[in-house]
Amino acid sequence: MGNEQEFQDLLQRVGLDREEISQRLRFLDWSAADVEQLGRHSAGLQPAHAGFLEQLYQRLGEFPATAAIVNDPATISRLKHSQGDYYQRLWNGPYDRDYVLDRLRIGWIHQKIGVDLKWYLGAYRLYLHEMLDGLLGAHPASTAFASLLKAVFFDIGLALDTYSAAQRKALEDSEARFARALRGANDGLWDWHVDHDQLYLSERWASMLELHRDQLGSGSAGWFARVHPDDLGGLRRAIDAHLQGSTPSLHHEYRIRRHNGSYLWVLVRGVAERIGQDQRRMAGSQTDISQHRAAQEQLQHAARHDPLTGLANRDRLAELLAQALQRQGRAGAREAALLFIDLDRFKLINDSLGHHIGDHVLVEVARRLGQCLRPGDHLIRFGGDEFVVLLDDLACIADAERVAQRMLDSLQPPLQVQEHQLVVSISIGIAALSEENAGLDSLQAADLALYRAKAAGKAQFARYSTEMQAQAQHQLELQSALSRALARDEFSLVYQPICQLDQAQPYLVAVEALLRWQHKGQAVSPLEFIPCLEESGAILAVGDWVLRQACAQVRHWQLAGQTALRCSVNLSSRQLQQADFAARVADILRESGLPPASLVLEITESQLMEDSAQTLACLRELASLGIQLALDDFGTGYSSLGYLKRFPLHILKVDKSFISGTPEDGDSRLISRAIIGLGLSLGLEVVAEGVERSEHLDFLRSEGCRLAQGYWFSRPRPPVELERLFSGEDCFEGLYCLLQAQPALSLP
Ligand code: C2E
Ligand code: MG
Ligand code: MG
Repeated sequence: MGNEQEFQDLLQRVGLDREEISQRLRFLDWSAADVEQLGRHSAGLQPAHAGFLEQLYQRLGEFPATAAIVNDPATISRLKHSQGDYYQRLWNGPYDRDYVLDRLRIGWIHQKIGVDLKWYLGAYRLYLHEMLDGLLGAHPASTAFASLLKAVFFDIGLALDTYSAAQRKALEDSEARFARALRGANDGLWDWHVDHDQLYLSERWASMLELHRDQLGSGSAGWFARVHPDDLGGLRRAIDAHLQGSTPSLHHEYRIRRHNGSYLWVLVRGVAERIGQDQRRMAGSQTDISQHRAAQEQLQHAARHDPLTGLANRDRLAELLAQALQRQGRAGAREAALLFIDLDRFKLINDSLGHHIGDHVLVEVARRLGQCLRPGDHLIRFGGDEFVVLLDDLACIADAERVAQRMLDSLQPPLQVQEHQLVVSISIGIAALSEENAGLDSLQAADLALYRAKAAGKAQFARYSTEMQAQAQHQLELQSALSRALARDEFSLVYQPICQLDQAQPYLVAVEALLRWQHKGQAVSPLEFIPCLEESGAILAVGDWVLRQACAQVRHWQLAGQTALRCSVNLSSRQLQQADFAARVADILRESGLPPASLVLEITESQLMEDSAQTLACLRELASLGIQLALDDFGTGYSSLGYLKRFPLHILKVDKSFISGTPEDGDSRLISRAIIGLGLSLGLEVVAEGVERSEHLDFLRSEGCRLAQGYWFSRPRPPVELERLFSGEDCFEGLYCLLQAQPALSLP
């Protein structure tokens, strides 16, 4: 800071305004008479003035401290000269603003060069003494007054001592407090004269970086050069924003380089102030926040990762996706893909072995999946048993299929979890990241593909296609149409005869009720709409309707003469999962009057797998009512012999896919033979499905299979057509005569 500036600061601090000066003069009783008095003696006291100066310099020479300042004749004569002027001015005035300023400036200079106040006071005492002498001469009163002056000046010195000591103490206390607070806060301090680029940094500021103050230079360059390149712009912007008044203070976190080259997270705080017109100064503190940052980062990590597997979680996926999409937007970007992965039948593991084992399985699966990835790919636990993989930087999207295949293969070897050996499979949906998927985002597209992979039999991958999307759309439309179909009376039942083969002429013993849906004037295949009903849950209401309808119909035919006619009805797994299902069936039987023994309920193997405990309980209850249970489509699913023993089954239906190959195809023949043999040996009735040709019939007969259905006998038909058959008005395919051969089944 320039000298003049320093003096101006001091003046402000002294705070002598017009009012203060006039008050002081009033208290001194200063008046025009005083001016006149002094003026009158001015000339007469010239010799006394000169004498005083001689005396003063002689005295100053006697004390070592003052002698050191006034030590050569040239200085002495210059000082005497200016002192002479000064004392003249003191005597004569005028005591105006200039006078006051000059006095203050001289006092400031003296203080700066180290002239102690006591020499000052002593000089004034000597001056008054000499002037007294000059006015009164050696008068007894003047001698006494001279002595009094000495005592008074001694006291003035003491009074000033106490005042200044007390002020110094207050200042020191506050400084000590400040220093203590600083030590406690452990903060570094900085003080920057922005326009002169003079920077003061405290020792602590430097030591935080394992540096000494003098290693940092005196300008801001030493500071900014150590700021992390990624953070420098931000810091400068924060400083500028505050200097321009857009922020109330500077408050900014950034990284700064330590002596050893590593970076430290710090928080800089500061405020700017204006000095004069155009000078700015900014000062503040700097705090080491590395620990706080580390804790924060740990929290952030925890918030974006799954605690069980340690993988990134869904929140993190959102970030990764956003970044990947941004990269995709750039020119020359390579392909990227999402894999949506779901464990097949994980619920079964959780339910049967407990969540603890389930957790181990998830961890192990995550580990194996992770091993199929390259660095730069991401594996995310999406939730539950769902994982998502983000594959970046692919040459072509087919590479994603290769990764998916690797993942499927990685789960081939069984998992060893504690004492359990578990076979776990996954299904995978694949979607390209960049793809505009007809309104779907990539994740939804991959999810849709996953759904397809599951529907196609699990343990495989499927890649998203626009047809898939169209299909899903179609599915949705179907679902909404289906939800209204029951109320609109769009459903109907057809019945397919099931025939007994043990006589020369097969004869009709049962019918299988099959659901039909007439939508917009067109018949929709049950293979299409039944899964749809199952998914929406509408199958419960529709299933009830089918049962009620079929039971009533067959009971009607029984009463009309087909007394031994049995009725087969297909069930969905969701129906079996209802706790009150058996009771509902009992009600329906009661309402229709159909004997329980006339009802056959058909279930498939996959239904038995869904929720075995509930399903088993339900099936037992149904069996105890006297209802017959048939295992439908046997051979197409797991064909588990365990199920045949465990569940209370009465009938086994051999799937039409085997029958259609007989007798020409060797495998079909062998499998059909094995299934028929298996059923018979377990004491079950065996029904062959899909009999279309007389060769099929011959084969079945030769294998001892007693029951069959298929187009050879009759397609599924509406009730009126069956009634024409029963009445003998009509005969379809080869059935007419068969009915004749079976009096019990003919109409009265
Ligand atoms: P499913 O229970 O195995 O029914 C037999 C299917 O084979 C019927 O198909 C029938 O028309 C067909 N079929 C019969 N004989 C022959 C033949 O000689 N050759 C060929 N190629 N096919 C033959 P549909 O009616 O299309 O029904 C398909 C499936 O839909 C049924 O298979 C059944 O699982 C399901 N389904 C039908 N109605 C219902 C129902 O009311 N409830 C439930 N839950 N499922 C039903
Ligand atoms: Mg069936
Ligand atoms: Mg079947």
